[in-house]
Amino acid sequence: MTNSSVEALIAKYDRPVPRYTSFPTAVQFTHDISQERYRALLTGLDPNEELSLYVHIPFCHSLCHYCGCHTKITASYKPVSDYIRTLLKEIELYGQAIGHMIPVARVHFGGGSPNYAHSEDLFAILSTFSRYFDITENTQIDMECDPRLLSPEKIRAYCALGVSRVSLGIQDFDETVQCAINRVQPYEQVKDCVQTLRAEGIHDINFDLVVGLPEQTVESVTQTVEQALSLSPQRIAVFPYAHVPWMKKHQLLLEKFRLPGAAERFDMMETVRKILVHSGYKAIGIDHYALESDTLAKAQEQGTMRRNFQGYTDDPSRTILGFGLSSISQFDGAYVQNTTDAPSYRSALVEKRFPIKRGCVLSADDQIRRSLIERLMCDFVIRLDDYPQIAAPWDRLSLLERDGMIEVKSNTLKISESGKPFTRVVAACFDPYFQPEAGRHAKAV
Ligand code: SF4
Repeated sequence: MTNSSVEALIAKYDRPVPRYTSFPTAVQFTHDISQERYRALLTGLDPNEELSLYVHIPFCHSLCHYCGCHTKITASYKPVSDYIRTLLKEIELYGQAIGHMIPVARVHFGGGSPNYAHSEDLFAILSTFSRYFDITENTQIDMECDPRLLSPEKIRAYCALGVSRVSLGIQDFDETVQCAINRVQPYEQVKDCVQTLRAEGIHDINFDLVVGLPEQTVESVTQTVEQALSLSPQRIAVFPYAHVPWMKKHQLLLEKFRLPGAAERFDMMETVRKILVHSGYKAIGIDHYALESDTLAKAQEQGTMRRNFQGYTDDPSRTILGFGLSSISQFDGAYVQNTTDAPSYRSALVEKRFPIKRGCVLSADDQIRRSLIERLMCDFVIRLDDYPQIAAPWDRLSLLERDGMIEVKSNTLKISESGKPFTRVVAACFDPYFQPEAGRHAKAV
């Protein structure tokens, strides 16, 4: 594609659209999930079907000014230990409600910065899980980590806990960018973490990079990717920065810097893609890259890759139970989110109530669309006659087809190479709830 046609596509389609880590998206969650209804979902879980557990640790030691997560900044450990004591109560409440052991495929610690928590507290979480869920040596334990808080002692302790995959928040190695976003972590610090992780036996290492941050240029991003490659992570996720200061006020602090525009961000994404693919990484979905030996690359090849609230995954579990503030549980027919309010979370658990706040029960139509949108986001192609109940939105699709973003032949809808950066726009055509004007999502590119 020529530069001018790329610019024309960006001008036309770079609008706020959901990331489709779920369908319906969290914007559609309502407040009418009762305790009884939730309890029924839990007691109905099949004791023979593996599920996964997500634990949210919403604490960090300093605020990155681009942050879009649910987290709290604290220099004191007391709020973290108090929170984890409450979280243990939540696990017990679930265990007692479910009433039987269920095998666990994955435990994922997300945040915030899960490695802010002391290892003994993470051990307490895992051992409480083990009283109610079947966690074995086959259970994969993943943890998101802030390299600035990752000491060799912590890494050794995580190995002893069974952690086998670590995702390091890198974002950018450039010092000017790091200062602008208030996250200074030199390359050498990350390199030390990677070396220690490998020395202790954790080889599945993921890097998260962010594109579109203040003061980034195509050259600085190129340099960051080359530095990342020098450490040979198994996977690299490259997320577009979501500037949503109406939801995250601290992001206004970034507006005093030069923020790359849509065309420049697009260029950065393309540059990163070319470098990584040229270096032997497989492009996965819209924003991930993985070595061929990695399980995510294999899942993509076999058509078994999934998309959930953590992004792209090879986790086959249909049920994910979320623990902690703001976490979301996913069931075949429902999503249920915990409260984001710490006092409400605590009081619910003192009163032995689930700390749930809102959610969504999926209709039969929602479930079919969820599957369609997930396959589009993962495979870039769907057979429309696999979804006979869904009337294809030809009015919108034909516009995308005319712009060369999709091809429709013999009932197969395929997103073209030039359309892939706009996959979320294609997915939005099948989302009857999406309101283009609502502006509650990050932009498409
Ligand atoms: S470490 Fe992550 S969660 Fe914590 S403030 Fe920075 S971006 Fe947000």
